[in-house]
Amino acid sequence: MNSFEVVQSNLEERFNKIKNESCLQDYASHYIELEKIGDSYLKGKCPFEDTNDRSFTISIPKQIFYCFGCHKGGDIISFLTFLHKEMTPIKAVETLEKQKFKQKVNELKIALRNNEDPTDLIEEVKLLTKIILKEES
Ligand SMILES: [Zn+2]
Repeated sequence: MNSFEVVQSNLEERFNKIKNESCLQDYASHYIELEKIGDSYLKGKCPFEDTNDRSFTISIPKQIFYCFGCHKGGDIISFLTFLHKEMTPIKAVETLEKQKFKQKVNELKIALRNNEDPTDLIEEVKLLTKIILKEES
């Protein structure tokens, strides 16, 4: 592998990891109200356009979205890039990683308070710290 390929595969790994660990409906629900349709779908007003139509849908098992109004669709990374106009996919990954870091630190605090075994959480926080710091150096 040349150095470009190493960077490339690390990036791909980071994309996949944060995608698998993030929850699209949790993230989207900070911006829009979502209503559950059956077991697998959520529906709401599209956050990318000025409309009252509830044309925005999320598939929970697939972790993807689609809007029948503006035809935008994709995964959680695309959701961030559509929502925050200037955001690149890599910036979206970083944003989710930082959010994950905060969430894990909180979980760790709670675990310590409740005298639960913090080993796994400490490992996760360490790993995320490494990823985030590398990004900023
Ligand atoms: Zn739309």
